[in-house]
Amino acid sequence: MTAQILDGKKLAQTVKEELKTKIAALPSAPALAVIIVGTDPASEIYVRNKEKACQAVGIAPQTHKLPAETSKEELAALIKRLNNTPDINGILIQLPLPAHLNAAEILPLISPEKDVDGFHPVNVGKLLQKDTETFIPCTPKGIIKLIKSAKPDITGLNAVVIGRSQIVGLPVAHLLLNENCTVTVAHSKTKNLPELCRTADILVAAVGKPELVTKEYIKPDSLIIDVGINRTANGLKGDVNFADALETAAYVTPVPGGVGPMTIAMLLDNTVAAYLKQNRP
Ligand code: NDP
Repeated sequence: MTAQILDGKKLAQTVKEELKTKIAALPSAPALAVIIVGTDPASEIYVRNKEKACQAVGIAPQTHKLPAETSKEELAALIKRLNNTPDINGILIQLPLPAHLNAAEILPLISPEKDVDGFHPVNVGKLLQKDTETFIPCTPKGIIKLIKSAKPDITGLNAVVIGRSQIVGLPVAHLLLNENCTVTVAHSKTKNLPELCRTADILVAAVGKPELVTKEYIKPDSLIIDVGINRTANGLKGDVNFADALETAAYVTPVPGGVGPMTIAMLLDNTVAAYLKQNRP
């Protein structure tokens, strides 16, 4: 059998059209501040893509480009200023930061009300408490939307998440648990990974290892979400061997064109949510 491809680009476009309509009806444009420190080429591309995506739906992007040698104090002062600027609804810091700046120290400086990436400890805590008012991190939020576009009810399904990072693996696992899946989180110390993955009705690969997931990891008729973005000599690869997934699974996300576009769409969605929260009558 051939799996159905879960088209993240198309779903993201639908989300963006809906947001555009919603934003057009607002009294002012929501605004997103994006802070980039240094000149990492991949980060610069990501920031440019976010700017373009904002503009396409009517969100005003405000990019702050800081030199690589920016001190913690200088960055903190900018974040404080943006926290206190009422016209800025969301604040995002492009990761990774240069080595002398510790993201775990910097990210909590963003006001939880403007934390559209959902990385602030307050918002992480709210996610664990199933608080629907929190900002859910963009990639995990997009993954759940993709899964539910194919399978609206995932109650009782077995889900395996490979990866336990703060930005993808852990929040995805919590969101799947909130959807009543039975969730197992695998990582680099997990034993018998292929065997474990073969129990998964839903398999989320967020590892950063090109094509780690091959046929022997995939349960027939399952749903596979490939989060990986790996630049290899043979081009951009996911964490899943796409041909194997196509052959064995029922649904699979492509790389590119799967999770990536949904991540940006969810950033826009969180920015509009931040605007609405901050402008409640
Ligand atoms: P991290 O490096 O932070 O985490 C990787 C996780 O994979 C860790 O938990 C690690 O385990 C686990 N792992 C590493 N090797 C193995 C292995 N051989 N077997 C099982 N588990 C393993 O990565 P991120 O979560 O930040 O990102 C994962 C991938 O997703 C990357 O390719 C990244 O580029 C991509 N990504 C894509 C996004 C998108 O929008 N499409 C957004 C964010 C990330 P341990 O904890 O034990 O070290």
